[in-house]
Amino acid sequence: MLNYSLNELSGLLKSRKISSVELTQSYLKRIDSLNPKINAYITVNPEASLKQAAEADIRLARGQIQPLTGIPIAQKDIFCAKGWKTTCGSKMLSNFVAPYDAHIIECFNNVGAIMLGRTNMDEFAMGSSNETSFFGPVHNPWDLNAVPGGSSGGSAAAVAARMAPAATGTDTGGSIRQPAALCGITGIKPTYGLVSRYGLVAYASSLDQAGPMGRTAEDCAILLNTMAGFDPRDSTSINHPSEDYVQSLSAPLQGLKIGLPKEYFTAGLSAEIAQSIEIACEVLRREGAEIREISLPNSPVAIPAYYVLASAEASSNLERYDGVRYGYRAKGYKDLVDMYKKTRAQGFGPEVKRRIMIGTYVLSAGYYDAYYIKAQKLRRLIANDFSNAFDKVDVILGPTSPQPAFNLGERSNDPVSMYLSDIYTIAVNLAGLPGLSLPAGFSGNGRPIGMQLIGNYFDEARLLNIAHRYQQVTDWHQREPSL
Ligand code: GLN
Repeated sequence: MLNYSLNELSGLLKSRKISSVELTQSYLKRIDSLNPKINAYITVNPEASLKQAAEADIRLARGQIQPLTGIPIAQKDIFCAKGWKTTCGSKMLSNFVAPYDAHIIECFNNVGAIMLGRTNMDEFAMGSSNETSFFGPVHNPWDLNAVPGGSSGGSAAAVAARMAPAATGTDTGGSIRQPAALCGITGIKPTYGLVSRYGLVAYASSLDQAGPMGRTAEDCAILLNTMAGFDPRDSTSINHPSEDYVQSLSAPLQGLKIGLPKEYFTAGLSAEIAQSIEIACEVLRREGAEIREISLPNSPVAIPAYYVLASAEASSNLERYDGVRYGYRAKGYKDLVDMYKKTRAQGFGPEVKRRIMIGTYVLSAGYYDAYYIKAQKLRRLIANDFSNAFDKVDVILGPTSPQPAFNLGERSNDPVSMYLSDIYTIAVNLAGLPGLSLPAGFSGNGRPIGMQLIGNYFDEARLLNIAHRYQQVTDWHQREPSL
């Protein structure tokens, strides 16, 4: 049962061959046995999950069935969920129980899905390896010495290890796609504004976007159908006509124009990944696609622009953690200012402090024009590169990450090499475009290889369609780590 797709699980629930309580129990059991090794979950609450499952069983018995009714879903610990601890991977929120539901949690609750647990993540979603979590690193199910990627590493590892049928993530600079690639699963970052950020703990608000993580494109389409939609509580939510992402999954790829950016295939890319993408191009050609080279000339400035802008926004967003209203508060302080200082010194980890310092610096009076404004201009040039490319091709194909999963500890003391792992994902967030990562092979040492499809605004259906067609004729997404 642990290998069933969401559709298959829904079929079993509908025909009453299993109950939601049984299904949830079997996942909880799997979590119980594997979480000590993998650390994919920060919180599970079997009592709360099983109560929801019992309610879902009543719905199912009444015939009130939607595609996710009764199905347990793992939620990244960044989405507020009423009554659940919502830590965002930080000591600062380690005691915070959310008083309300995030928009996407409401969406899942409304269709009768089950909250299976809260997945581990880099602290405040800052990281590419899941090593900045206050709750300890996540281990990659394919190799316990390897990182799962970050920041949604807990969600990716949970899905890869069959500790959840599917999960959610957020992606500010690659945090859905990069862990999906490193763990051998499928994940999509939607167009900025397609999924509401209401109740999502803010990192860099102009870049943050929630999205689905599953084993297949079809599972992601089912999740996206539930998550997407206008929400007036998020001022950047877009009132886009609702789409059925499942309906177009099987459309033929005849005549599809795919662009390969020449800047993505340079010395920094692992030869194994380049080769996997070459083979994938052959597969897509056989499906009727036409592949041509394109150029995204401003790609090299994406990382510096992103780390200026994301840090600037983070330094502002994280001002709210002052020990006054909620979250961690230091003990033993002299006065209010001392309380602020000690709370923030003790409550944040080193990576978060680094970002706050960079952000405060680039926003300060003397440096604002030189760094922040400059980075905003680069952001525009990067977005223009993509719009020029989409005049010539329908979608862009490239790597998700320059290397397969690296070892735990390998980059944790070298922030620049860590930031470089985002080289292919970050520009997509700066432009606000949708991007999807899907499994495309394995490295010589058995670690998954992912590839990325980038689409024009609101082209999620097309990305999912291409990924689905590819998954119909390949089996990378079906491989399972031996645990
Ligand atoms: N690795 C990037 C960062 O640390 C992206 C993280 C994310 O997408 N949340 O900012």
